[in-house]
Amino acid sequence: MGAPEAFTATSTVGHFIGGKAVAGTGSRSQPVFNPATGAVAREVMLGETADVDAAVAAAKAAFPKWADTPPIRRARVMFKFLDLLNQHRDTLAAMITAEHGKVFTDAQGEVTRGIEIVEFACGIPQLLKGDYTEQVSTGIDNWTMRQPLGVVAGVTPFNFPCMVPMWMFPVAIAAGNTFVLKPSPLDPSPSLFMAELLKQAGLPDGVFNVVQGDKVAVDALLANPDVKAISFVGSTPVAHHIAQEAARQGKRVQALGGAKNHMVVMPDADLDQVVDALMGSAFGSAGERCMAISVGVLVGDVADKILPRLVERTRALKVKNGMELDAEMGPIVTQAARERIAGYIASGVEQGAKLLVDGRGHVVPGYDGGFWIGGTLFDHVTPDMRIYQEEIFGPVLSCVRVPDFAAALDMVNTHAYGNGVACFTRDGHVAREFGRRVQAGMVGINVPIPVPMAWHGFGGWKASLFGDMHAYGEEGVRFYTKQKSIMQRWPESTPKGAEFVMPTAK
Ligand code: NAD
Repeated sequence: MGAPEAFTATSTVGHFIGGKAVAGTGSRSQPVFNPATGAVAREVMLGETADVDAAVAAAKAAFPKWADTPPIRRARVMFKFLDLLNQHRDTLAAMITAEHGKVFTDAQGEVTRGIEIVEFACGIPQLLKGDYTEQVSTGIDNWTMRQPLGVVAGVTPFNFPCMVPMWMFPVAIAAGNTFVLKPSPLDPSPSLFMAELLKQAGLPDGVFNVVQGDKVAVDALLANPDVKAISFVGSTPVAHHIAQEAARQGKRVQALGGAKNHMVVMPDADLDQVVDALMGSAFGSAGERCMAISVGVLVGDVADKILPRLVERTRALKVKNGMELDAEMGPIVTQAARERIAGYIASGVEQGAKLLVDGRGHVVPGYDGGFWIGGTLFDHVTPDMRIYQEEIFGPVLSCVRVPDFAAALDMVNTHAYGNGVACFTRDGHVAREFGRRVQAGMVGINVPIPVPMAWHGFGGWKASLFGDMHAYGEEGVRFYTKQKSIMQRWPESTPKGAEFVMPTAK
């Protein structure tokens, strides 16, 4: 692959309402940084309540016609969008690297995983098919159908500015809803670009809208009675707040939160595979993934066998500007996030964990202003430490030592979070027991980051998800639709006289 073209636009990023890019009614904005250089690359507008209300009004106006459009025609728009996404995959990936910092090839992977949800949404006619029973009683048939909710909203985090919005809007829109997206202000450009591509694909104006912004915009979405459902992905405190507030307002809600994903390594595992898996899953995307492995649970003598290798590999990580094709890890998203991560590393040392590799103070020649932290490795981490309990969301791998499988499982199951989890073993019984007994929503057996495919649905347990339904897959279709049951008979078969008892099959 030749060097990819960097995204260097300097124009202010605004909203997309009613089929048009607009600056909005307010004057608040915030800088968007290139994390590799630390320089301000552009500004993003921060939407006010009036902007949210305008977007919701546009979506509400577009809803009746879009909901009435046959699913196969809605799917055809998705097919065109899919084609455009494939054409512009590298442009989107470069935007992600420019604003998030992750390496370009990882950003390409992000776009691909988003594209897969669009592929799934192209099958919406099949997914919306109802159930039908002929002759539930003499002369009566009964069937169910799924209908869209109306205007639905998505609030998304910085770490997947393309994929996480695509967990939501392709399914929601294909199902006949209209959508308002509030992306993270840290990396706002991909959302606007996707809005332009949807328009080019023939999506009617108002069906997909973007309001950039912060808490003000989110509060306005929560308060607007025309928003019927909210999908949220972000940190646990905000997810919990959104879930409670949306429920209080009578809205359907799915709020995916933070994580602390453990990888249990059994002594019989293939340790070469384990070292590779820990490196990629702890340090890929600088650990800024909700499915990153942040805790290695090393059983028996595993720690002594693999830690020297992990130390060597962590020190050798290629941490550099994500547009350089041999980069393995890019910068941290912001200076504030870098300071938060450095604070966690200091707290681990204070609380007695053994710091084997310290990523603080990492420098990248030629990129003095970038938000760098190198890979960081701790041994002898214990459950009372903050670096074990809390989500660090950075390139920090904490290793705990446990005597056996039972202790490992107990440790995973008593943690507050339950997003992803992995177990590396060659023992089928251990693998089966782990899969059955572990308290987490997404489980990998010899797979470090088990992000479910587009048709399976994504979601954690415990403090990693508030609400009942997972994102995308068939649960996504159910989330964005409501079931209606129709029971029908025709006059010919209607018996004479009122019935006062509960109807039963006759
Ligand atoms: P965040 O919670 O700070 O922000 C998420 C979204 O909420 C953004 O759009 C932000 O503007 C908005 N927001 C922030 N504070 C708010 C408030 N007080 N009221 C209303 N809205 C608010 O999260 P982030 O830092 O952008 O993303 C990282 C977090 O997201 C991590 O905790 C990570 O684990 C989590 N995440 C979870 C999943 C998952 O599927 N469970 C996936 C990706 C990221």
